[in-house]
This record gives sequence, C-alpha cells and structure tokens, in this order.
Amino acid sequence: MDRRGVKFFNTLGRRLEPFEPLEPGKVGIYTCGPTVYNTVHIGNLRTFLFEDLLCRSLRFLGFEVTQIMNLTDVDDKTIRGAFEKGLALDVYTAPFIASFAADLATLNVVPAAAYPRATQHIDGMQAIITRLLASGYAYESDGSVWFRIAADDDYGKLSGFRKDEARVGERVASDEYETEDVRDFVLWKGVKPGEPSWPSPWGPGRPGWHIECSAMSAAFLGETFDIHCGGVDNLFPHHENEIAQSESANGVPFVRTWLHSEHLIVDGQKMSKSLGNFYTLGDLLARGISPRALRYLLISVHYRQKLNFTFAGLDGARAALTRIDDFIDRVENAAIAQGHEEEKLSVKVEALISGFSAGLADDLNVSAALASLFDFVREVNGMIDRRELGAGDGERILAALRQIDSALGVIFMPWGTAAAGDGEPSPSDVEIESAIAARKAARAAKNFAESDRIRDDLAARGVVLEDSPQGTRWKRR
Ligand SMILES: [Zn+2]
Repeated sequence: MDRRGVKFFNTLGRRLEPFEPLEPGKVGIYTCGPTVYNTVHIGNLRTFLFEDLLCRSLRFLGFEVTQIMNLTDVDDKTIRGAFEKGLALDVYTAPFIASFAADLATLNVVPAAAYPRATQHIDGMQAIITRLLASGYAYESDGSVWFRIAADDDYGKLSGFRKDEARVGERVASDEYETEDVRDFVLWKGVKPGEPSWPSPWGPGRPGWHIECSAMSAAFLGETFDIHCGGVDNLFPHHENEIAQSESANGVPFVRTWLHSEHLIVDGQKMSKSLGNFYTLGDLLARGISPRALRYLLISVHYRQKLNFTFAGLDGARAALTRIDDFIDRVENAAIAQGHEEEKLSVKVEALISGFSAGLADDLNVSAALASLFDFVREVNGMIDRRELGAGDGERILAALRQIDSALGVIFMPWGTAAAGDGEPSPSDVEIESAIAARKAARAAKNFAESDRIRDDLAARGVVLEDSPQGTRWKRR
C-alpha cells in the first residue's frame, strides 16, 4: 500500500492535514482506555472500534503501528466502588478489566500492544509532578499538588478554552480541595480516610486522573508521539490537561495529531439509563444481536459524525453483510469459463484496492471505502452472471476481500461470540492476563467454583496456569 497521501482532521488546529509520523513508516498511538468500575456501554465501544479501525487502516496502508491503551484503575469511581464492596482496589477492578477484554475480543478488536494500568505507573506520574513543581507549573496545598493554569501560556489550545474568560463556577476540576484558583486541576490528591494511597514526597495520596495518561504515554511512546485518540467527551478537560502537564514538564510538543470520535446517540436521543435506551454489548447479545452486525454498524459511520444507533440500523448492517456473504458464496460456487479474459478481473481488483485505500487515507472515510467494496461486489456479480470467471479467479477475489478485511475486520469475522465455545481462537495475551486477574478476584472472594471455571476455560483454550507464591504464571500448550 501507499503510505503517502494519508490525511487526518487534527483536532489541534481543527484542520485536515497530511499525516507524517515522526519516524517514517512507524506510528505510535495512545488511546484513553476505560475507567474499570463498570461494564462499558455501546457509546464507549464506538470509540474503541473507531480506534481499532484506525490502527487496522494504518497497517493496511503500510504503517507499523504501536497502540497503547491505559486502564484507569484508580480514581474516585473505582475507589468508591471498592470501598462499598469492601474489596481491595485490584480485586474490585479485575472483573471489569476482564469484561472489557472480552467485549473487545467479541467485537474482533485487534489487541493493543499494551494495556498499562494507572496503579503500575505511580513512579512515572510522581516524576512528572516533581518536574512541574520545580519549574513553577505546580504547587502544593495541604498534601495535594495542583497544576497552575495561570503559568501555562497556551493552555486551551486544543479545546479553545479561554482561561481569561473562565468564570467562577466553570471549574476545570471539581474537587473539594483548597486551590489558589478554581481553574487549577489536581495532579496528586492527599489521602482521605479509608482510601488506598501511595507514599510520595508530598505525603501519602493518589494520582489525579489526567496525570496518568501523561506518564503512561511517555513510558511507552516517548515524550512526543504521533497520534492521541479518544471520544469527544475526553477532549476537555482531560486531553487539554494532558497537554498542559506533558508540555510544561518536558518542554517538547506532546502529540502531533489528535483524533476525536463523536458521540453515539440512540434513536436520536442521548443514551441514558433513565430513558431506558442504555445498552452494553451484553444487553444486545442477550437480544440475539450478532456482534458482527454491531461491529459493521459502529464502524460504518464516519468517526467525526454522531452515530445514531437504532435497531433498524442494525437490520441494515445485517443486510449489507448478507449481501457480502451471498457474494462470497457465489464466488466459491461460480462456474468456470474456458478462455476467459484474465485482464477484466485484474482491473476490478485493482479498482477495489485503490478505491478502498483512497477512502481510508482520506481521514478514514469508511463510506467511500465501503462504496468501492459494494461496487466491486456488483461488478463481479455481473461477471458471474455472464460466466466470465476463469480458473483461479475465485481465489483472487477472496484474497482481495481478505486484504481489505484486514482493515474492516468484519467480512470474515466469526458469527458467534467469544463465549461460543467450539472452534474458538486461542485467547490473546491481554485476555489471558484479564482472566487471571478475574480468577484472582474470584479466589479472594472465596468463589472457588468461579476460579475453577476460569482455569478450566483457559485450559480448554490451550492455556495452562501455574500458581506459585509469586503469583500465577501462564503458558500456551
Ligand atoms: Zn487519558
């Protein structure tokens, strides 16, 4: 594929611009992951599928991609949840980490290179905070540390937030702590009774939410990297604050290209539990919705457009997939003509690959990419009708479909769910780690039936666990 000509709409600057990674041919991508205190909903999944389509598309276009996704396992919500259940923080978050990994696997998401957890990177966060304090960008107050927005000249450059126009009440952070200025946001929170804490030069406490992404992205991708993604709801204050922290501490640009996916709405309305239109993947599977149709629907709308989720839309996705499946069926069973024109198919395959590539390269214009696929389906169906396929053509058509499906991940996606049992693919490393964490949680809760079930399930999928005083190790059979 051709790596030149790729364009993205960069939220930083709000314009479409040519994409050039720092190192030719290699792309580092950081994607904000979930806060692991509940099961993600389909709005979250839309963002994660956009990021999956982005990584797959860049690979399809010839780039080597390293994707890092954090898991926020320490914040107000996880701490409150663990406290209410009387569980240690890691025991409380483990099943949510496991269900997140299972949702991604069910939707055929290619796993990220790493899923670092905030609690594993406290040292890196403290190092950044120390530098910010030394250079006057941060200050200590009563065991907590705050970022001083007044000291950061270009604060607001991503979101357009004007700090000089901020009124009292428009707080950048809403915490019940004393600050110099209501706009300042917390970097380190002094411990409160009953909360988990880590030692620090400023006393025991825990990191603020924003600092974790500054620390973990630098740990894996360096102080400056290519692409940072997230949903638009993370644009402000989260991403604005990441920029403020990282650039003030490091003195170099943080991220070259920012990409944000729009909201998902349901039947034209904001999704909410009170409206009864709130869905998790599990809710949809329980209604018999195929994850393949859901994946198709969620990736088929351009990431910068609001996606209106409806059950009619799912029917449409299913119909589109049926058209592709029927096509594959016809290709596999097509009569072979003697003395056919080989040239004719080659032209169509080339048009498919180039049209599909051009669509993805144009700020991930998936509609244009899919249009070239359905043009191909229509034209080759015509060739089959006219008995114009020759020996080997069927395999060339399927190879072309497999090639574009490396980006879509939906044409040859298994019909079943990850829990379907027979013929399941071997689990990914992250699934295994998550299952081990869930098993540890089950054992801590003395739920030995569940812990045995997880072990047996992994064994059935070719993964053997070994418990030792240092923890659980695993290997593939
Ligand atoms: Zn983040």
